[in-house]
Amino acid sequence: MAVLMAPGGTLQMAAGALDHGADSVYVGPHGWSRRPASDELSDAEIRELIEHGRSGGKDVRIAINVMPAPDEIGCFLDKVGRYAAWGAGGVMLCDPGCIRLVRERVPGIEIHVSVTAGLFNSEDIRVYRQLGADHVVLPYRWGSAEIAEAKGRTGIALEAFLFETPQRSWICPGRCHASSYFRIDHACDEQGKDHFVGSAGRGGSCHRICQGRWNFRSGTELLTGARQLKSSPELLLWELPDYVEVGVSRFKIPGRERSVELVCAITAFYRRALDHVLRGSRDLSGFLPEWSDIKARWVSERSHRDDRRVGAAAA
Ligand code: SF4
Repeated sequence: MAVLMAPGGTLQMAAGALDHGADSVYVGPHGWSRRPASDELSDAEIRELIEHGRSGGKDVRIAINVMPAPDEIGCFLDKVGRYAAWGAGGVMLCDPGCIRLVRERVPGIEIHVSVTAGLFNSEDIRVYRQLGADHVVLPYRWGSAEIAEAKGRTGIALEAFLFETPQRSWICPGRCHASSYFRIDHACDEQGKDHFVGSAGRGGSCHRICQGRWNFRSGTELLTGARQLKSSPELLLWELPDYVEVGVSRFKIPGRERSVELVCAITAFYRRALDHVLRGSRDLSGFLPEWSDIKARWVSERSHRDDRRVGAAAA
């Protein structure tokens, strides 16, 4: 079965995505999912969303993909247990110790290895499988041969993000801590959870400093003109038939920080494209004009957002 997952940066976005064809939405609790608080939900909102989803036969997954400190483990486990009791289908985790802990203490909930675990190869996937994970989010840059090999070796359910970084370098999701060296703002919420804005892995958000324009110098000598450290990710389309063929079971749309309108449009687009492929067609050329429009809107929103984030961090 192929499942289309959409982002829920707000309750309105999550409900809109379900209405526009998503089978499942993923959301993050405040301080626990590597995003600004404006793109995360309160526990009351998560409960409301789970109930809304269940009434329509849809599914909600919770991203808790930060690395809890020792004194946060109790709060972390309480949260996972609560979401499971409310009926969440699964949680997305990245910390190996926490994955094993959830498998032991909350046996009924499915565990996804978040892309921020920074997987490199199928041996990594085998380790997470042994720890109790049910799904793994594939690294962005894998081709269908690598995906098929991982499926054959591990038997784990595979989830693919519908975007990738065109720059095939080694800035790997979850393994970049550059923002933390630039600026960190700290706050503690009423539940005792630390929020480190600037340090996504510890519960906050990164400043997107790779998207700023940087000059490189050696002493007083300017080595390069202003340049970005990393190119912007791009939405995927042509890969869909291969992904379906090699057994990817979840297709994940990125964008919890996008507008509700754009997320609804992207969800409706991928719903039609995925259904087209599932009916047996490999020809997606008819989707090209609409895809070009959606990609342009995606890049425009992303650039504005990144410029704001870098600017705010530098202020
Ligand atoms: S600075 Fe760029 S590469 Fe590093 S975590 Fe943030 S978005 Fe990713």
